[in-house]
Amino acid sequence: MLRMPRPWIPRRVLVTPSALAWPTGAAMVERAAALGSDIVRLDSDRLSSLPDSYRDAKTTMAIVNASPSRRRLQPIPPSADWRFDLAEGCPAHCSYCYLAGSLAGPPIIRAYANLREILAELPAAVGQGRVTSASRERAGEGTTFECSCYTDPLSIEHLTGYLAACITHFGAWDMPGDVPGDGQAGGKVQLRFTTKFDAVGPLLGLAHNRRTRIRFSVNAAAAERHEGCAPRVRARLAALRAVAAAGYPVGLTVAPIMRVPDWADAYDRLFADVAEALDGVADVDLTAELITHRFTPKSKDVLAAWYPGSPLEMDEGLRARKMTKFGSTKWVFPREQMVEMREALQASLARRLPMVRLLYWT
Ligand code: SF4
Repeated sequence: MLRMPRPWIPRRVLVTPSALAWPTGAAMVERAAALGSDIVRLDSDRLSSLPDSYRDAKTTMAIVNASPSRRRLQPIPPSADWRFDLAEGCPAHCSYCYLAGSLAGPPIIRAYANLREILAELPAAVGQGRVTSASRERAGEGTTFECSCYTDPLSIEHLTGYLAACITHFGAWDMPGDVPGDGQAGGKVQLRFTTKFDAVGPLLGLAHNRRTRIRFSVNAAAAERHEGCAPRVRARLAALRAVAAAGYPVGLTVAPIMRVPDWADAYDRLFADVAEALDGVADVDLTAELITHRFTPKSKDVLAAWYPGSPLEMDEGLRARKMTKFGSTKWVFPREQMVEMREALQASLARRLPMVRLLYWT
C-alpha cells in the first residue's frame, strides 16, 4: 500500500498572482513553505506547467481563485441542499475514488484562495434548497451546505485552515429568529462535510454551535485495501468519538458498499465497531448515509489508468445498467442484490446503533 507523510506535504505548490493577493492564499503559501514545499509563484493566472504523471500530479497543489461559475452553488441531492467548493482533489489514493468520474485533467489539488467570495454566495440560498429545506423529516437541519463533494477538506486542513474558518462562520451565523446555542439540531443552517482523515484536533475547541455535521467515510475492513494513504478506519472512528464528545453532530458515510467476502458480517462488524467507538459519549446526534459502489464508463477508464492492476471489481457483466438524470450510463449492483444488501445493512445498523438516523440508501 502507498504511504505518504502525515500531514500531507505537497512537493510543489503553484500559486497564481491573484490568489496570492488574498490573505487566505498568502497564508496557505506560508504554511506550505514552512512544511518544506517548493513554492512556484506563477506570472499569470493561467495554470501552466501542470504535471502529466499521476504521481507528480498527486503531489502538486495549485492555489487559485474560484471563478464566478465555480462559486455558484449547486444542488446536491440526496446529501444536502447545496454544494460549495473550497478545493478540488485529494492527496489519498483510493482505487475507487469517486472524483475520477467528476474532475477533469491531472489529479492535482486545487485550493481556492478567495474564501470570502465563496462564503458570500451562501446567504442568498438559505431556505431555498430541495433536500433538507423541503423535507419534513430533515427540516430541523435547516438549509444544508456540503463542502466535501470535490475534495476531502480535512486532508488539507493543515494547509488551508478552511474547515476551522467555515465551522466558526456557520457557528456565528446570525439569523433573524435564530437562537444561538438553543440546542436545536443544526439551527437554521448546517455545514456538512465527510472525510476519511482523522486530524480533528484543531476542530475540537471551535465555537461550532452544533451547526456543523462531521461525517466519517467508513467501510468494511476488507474494503480498506482500496484506500491507499488514507488513515485506517480505526483512526477515523477515534476521530468520530472525539468530535462527538466535542458536541458536533456526527455521521457515517458508509461508502462505497461492496460485496466483499461475507459482506453482511463485515458490515455488521463495522457498525459494532462504531457502537464501541461511541460508547459512553453523551447526546450523540448520529446520521448514516449508505452508498453502494457504482462506476461509469468514464470513471472506470480514469481509475484503470490511475491504478493499473487494482483488484477493484468493475465488471459490467456483474452489474445492472442505470441511466443518470443527465442521460449517461452508470453501473450499479443488480436489483435483487441491492434489495438483499439494503435489508441486511439497515437491520444491522438499527441493531448496533439504535440512535442512528438513516438519511438515505443509494
Ligand atoms: S479520500 Fe475520498 S477523495 Fe480522497 S482519494 Fe479517497 S475517495 Fe478520493
